[in-house]
Amino acid sequence: MIHIAQPQIGEEEKQAVWEVLQSGMLAQGPKVAAFEEAFAAYCGVKHAIATSSGTTALHTALLAHEIGPGDEVITTPFTFIASANSIRYVGATPVFVDIDPVTFNVDPQAVEAAITERSKAIMPVHLFGLVCEMDGLMDVAERHGLAMIEDACQSHGAEFDGKRAGSFGTGCFSFYPTKNITTAEGGIITTDDDVVAEWARIIRHHGMRRRYYHDEVGYNFRMTDVHAAIGLAQLPKLEGFNEARIRNATYFNVHLEGVVTPTTPEGYRHVFHQYTVRAPEGRRDEMLAYLREQGVGCGVYYPVPVHQQSIYDNVTESFPEAEKASLEVLSLPVHPGLSAEDLETIVRAVNGFRA
Ligand SMILES: *Cc1c(COP(=O)(O)O)cnc(C)c1O
Repeated sequence: MIHIAQPQIGEEEKQAVWEVLQSGMLAQGPKVAAFEEAFAAYCGVKHAIATSSGTTALHTALLAHEIGPGDEVITTPFTFIASANSIRYVGATPVFVDIDPVTFNVDPQAVEAAITERSKAIMPVHLFGLVCEMDGLMDVAERHGLAMIEDACQSHGAEFDGKRAGSFGTGCFSFYPTKNITTAEGGIITTDDDVVAEWARIIRHHGMRRRYYHDEVGYNFRMTDVHAAIGLAQLPKLEGFNEARIRNATYFNVHLEGVVTPTTPEGYRHVFHQYTVRAPEGRRDEMLAYLREQGVGCGVYYPVPVHQQSIYDNVTESFPEAEKASLEVLSLPVHPGLSAEDLETIVRAVNGFRA
């Protein structure tokens, strides 16, 4: 079976973890600080604050922007549940807008139309490795005085207009094993804003500015040095991983038949966290079963949009493009571990799916 995801762990990661274990200093320490500095430099921002996961990065970022009860945050219903749930953790309300059917991302006009007097922030999700239309979204945010919290959990190294994901507003990344780089579990917040960065550091560490003086109710959302050591070994490989993903995606774009392949609009660098196609109408689940039979491990991201989850049954609106996408999408393996033979097997399997 060709797996849908495969973390790329080499000798460097093993050696780095071993060194931390040997040092006896396991929790947040010098490795976390070094990883933060390296990741901030990679994204082209002033600050990076490492956390225990992408979810806690989102939660912390919302708190650092002082978003809370009574506030609304505009986001997409076509995403992993953590995007919307993080808004609920702080007592705010997620307000959903429909997606663009070509990019699967929210567009600025739809976001602007959803603004009310309670809107406090926009949380665009750069889905599958493609950055949202950030010039338009930043313009909307600035004109309405809204914070910009990018869910960049799937877009390490993705670019729009020469700027990297996570460098437009406050970025939130995940290092879960399926992501473009991993720390096993982990996350990070990126920002140029000194105040947001300081708040995020305090919230992550039990509201402490001074040791054992607690001025805020914070959390333990820290990353450990064991995980940061993996991240430090992974980060120099990220560009190579992304180039391999882009090469694999380009091969699929050229060779796949009978499916709608993903689009990379002019001016964007898509880093293909997922290579997501639309299956022939009404036949997605049949195609999924067929491909798995052929040894191609594929996935459906996401089979149920957030607003149709039972925990969101208070949301009564419908979002037709998100709902349609959830019935049609299918993600194929695109990770850097694929061999030339794997690529051929995947193409043969997809093109062999016929009535
Ligand atoms: C992975 C992911 C998250 C959450 O990250 P974790 O590290 O698993 O907590 C949030 N949003 C999106 C879009 C993701 O893909």
